Amino acid sequence: MRNKGLEIIQGFILMEMNNEWGKIYKDLGAKPVINATGSVTLLGGSTPVKEVREAMELGDSSYVVLADLEKYAGRRIADLLSVPAAYITSGAGSALTLASAAFMTGHKDENIEKLPNTDGMPNEILIQKRQRYWYDRCMEFSGARLIDVGDEYKTSVSDFEKLISEKTAAIHYPVYEQNPTDENVLSLEIVIDIAKKHDIPLSVDSAGQIYPLENLGKYVRMGADFQCVAAKYMGAPHSTGFALGTEDIISKIAKNSFIGYETNRIRGIGRPHKIDRQEIIGVVTAVERWMTLNHEERLSSFEYMTNKIIKGINNKNGINTQKIDNIMGHQPFGLLVDIDQNISMINNEILVEKLKDESPSIWTRINEGDSKICIHVFGLEKGQEEIVSETINRIMKQNLR
Ligand SMILES: *Cc1c(COP(=O)(O)O)cnc(C)c1O
Repeated sequence: MRNKGLEIIQGFILMEMNNEWGKIYKDLGAKPVINATGSVTLLGGSTPVKEVREAMELGDSSYVVLADLEKYAGRRIADLLSVPAAYITSGAGSALTLASAAFMTGHKDENIEKLPNTDGMPNEILIQKRQRYWYDRCMEFSGARLIDVGDEYKTSVSDFEKLISEKTAAIHYPVYEQNPTDENVLSLEIVIDIAKKHDIPLSVDSAGQIYPLENLGKYVRMGADFQCVAAKYMGAPHSTGFALGTEDIISKIAKNSFIGYETNRIRGIGRPHKIDRQEIIGVVTAVERWMTLNHEERLSSFEYMTNKIIKGINNKNGINTQKIDNIMGHQPFGLLVDIDQNISMINNEILVEKLKDESPSIWTRINEGDSKICIHVFGLEKGQEEIVSETINRIMKQNLR
């Protein structure tokens, strides 16, 4: 029998000997971690791919008029994704803030300069109460007010129509196509109809809808005025994203942006949402790569790593694994882990903490509203999947009843 324990130690020693791993962080006193959670901001979100890093380095070679660069980069992305217009931002969260500002200010310079004071502007963004989510806060930074539509159980068309007024700036709709459909929220199609009927802009958070490829721009093609995308999920820097939309909304976003502030001398709220010229090049390169990438290969490597962790975990130690069979969105595959406390003295929460305390530290998490540990392979380097399963085995073995 192969000595797995020895192998893992050898693997770990190799990683440590190649003491580049995390050294730059260790030198500062910060602890490098193995990211088995996925693309989470908490741990740094993403690692730009080689093509992106190389293109970004070429961006150093000269300065450029940023307003022009944004215009041409936006045009390239819009063409690639078959939408009228696009604008690169410092993350999808920034796109949400800037779009919220744009819905309220229109093209009016004096309004742009007034935010987050919204006097005299429509400032209400409607969202179904059941759809309230972590990132809706990004919309409020503009000064907009989020207004709940319906209750925690369901929403009707008349719930929307009761709240629509001259104060309504937009309707917002987050999409998570990888999740089971919630029958108790109004569908995007119905909400688009409401927005069109009342001539209200529709905003879609599609930050994670990067696969299937048709979802990039699909919501705008369906009739939304704006959708955001997080480029952190596509091999671009963690700090980047983009807005897709109509010419009208994208031009208003540009005016509210940090470049609008500097180029047009309009002091809008976008000034702190700064992005490098190298990052703009990085996003264009990431989108070009993404649209020509062999996604079957990408998905099969995610599945391979997932299977390897599942096979590597010894379920005799009181631990059950369940493969996540999803290829949509930003985190394909992965697994759920659940401890049988008849066999083990520890529970899921304790295992998460023990994994963090290991050396190297391994980060996993229990998603909100769930009880099982969720492991994603998005942030794992080749070989780290074995460290994950072997470390779990060792901890479990030490804690048998
Ligand atoms: C990550 C994410 C955001 C925020 O995107 P950033 O690029 O990190 O600002 C917004 N909405 C959803 C659904 C996301 O997954």
